[in-house]
Amino acid sequence: MPRPHRLTLNEHPLPPLDSVAAEIARHATAVNRYPEFYPERLRGIVADWLGLPGEQVVLGAGSVGVALQALQAGVSAGGGLAYGWRNFDAYPLLAGMVGARRIEVPLLPGGHQDLDALAKAVQDADAVIVCNPHNPTGRLVPGDELKEFVGRVPEHVLVVLDEAYIEFVAPSGRTDSLRWIREFPNLLVLRTFSKAWGLADMRVGYGVTSPEWAARIRRHQLPYSLSTLSAVAVETSLRARPELEERIAVIVGERERLAGGLARGGWEVLPSQTNFLWLDEPERTEEIRLALESEGVQARVYAGEGVRLTVGDTDANDSVLRALV
Ligand code: PMP
Repeated sequence: MPRPHRLTLNEHPLPPLDSVAAEIARHATAVNRYPEFYPERLRGIVADWLGLPGEQVVLGAGSVGVALQALQAGVSAGGGLAYGWRNFDAYPLLAGMVGARRIEVPLLPGGHQDLDALAKAVQDADAVIVCNPHNPTGRLVPGDELKEFVGRVPEHVLVVLDEAYIEFVAPSGRTDSLRWIREFPNLLVLRTFSKAWGLADMRVGYGVTSPEWAARIRRHQLPYSLSTLSAVAVETSLRARPELEERIAVIVGERERLAGGLARGGWEVLPSQTNFLWLDEPERTEEIRLALESEGVQARVYAGEGVRLTVGDTDANDSVLRALV
């Protein structure tokens, strides 16, 4: 039986670049030493790369770690946290961790987040999360709609815009959300090195917000929590951008090949701007699971809702097409 294809977690299908692996290995000999108290050096490097002042940047253990710090800073006990549902599984977990009241706003048909309903829900919340592009449906909220939404949120409510998959979005569809922060100081944009950068196990995410919110959020950063190995992996990856961008283009190409093949096979596949596809087939989730299993493919099955399939390497994607088409 060949190795199973793990298409459950929206991971990058390729191992790290040689340059990144070598740099991690070089620093592995010094792991008896602590890393920097707070990751100031990496924060400066990330800020320079973004062309922003360091005071606007926060780092954390993945973007989910940044989200936790932000909600610790922005949500009072029993305060509301609003988000569309279905969504990324971590949101209800994070709500539980900070003692927030969950305000889950149902998605609209077709997998769209209901921004109108969310704008109403935030009147009674401390924070709101919008996932763009959305996990698990892959849907992208257009920039003008998103900006209008952010403008409707009261200033004391933290708006978390989770852009974990932004690098897979076609340049024409990318929002310039980082520029909105000047106008909306309560906006926090979250991004990660886990997905398009292929460093999921390194646990580095970053947030960009106003200097005031960044200072509040950084107060919740654990000392010594970002490993030197993680910092050098990110630093080396930032220097290797052209190679990594080529890899992203390959994944996007595979996404379109897979989506096209599945659509031709008669499956309802939503248009995706991420590294995964949503099979909008609530009645057929078990049938899909069994068919994929027969080809050694593990996908994320939401029983009675749909199936989320990470775009894998060519081999994995061929197995998906063999299983379903
Ligand atoms: N946001 C979304 C929407 C995700 O799907 C994920 C990972 N599945 C993350 C954030 C978290 O990524 P990380 O903590 O590894 O940065």
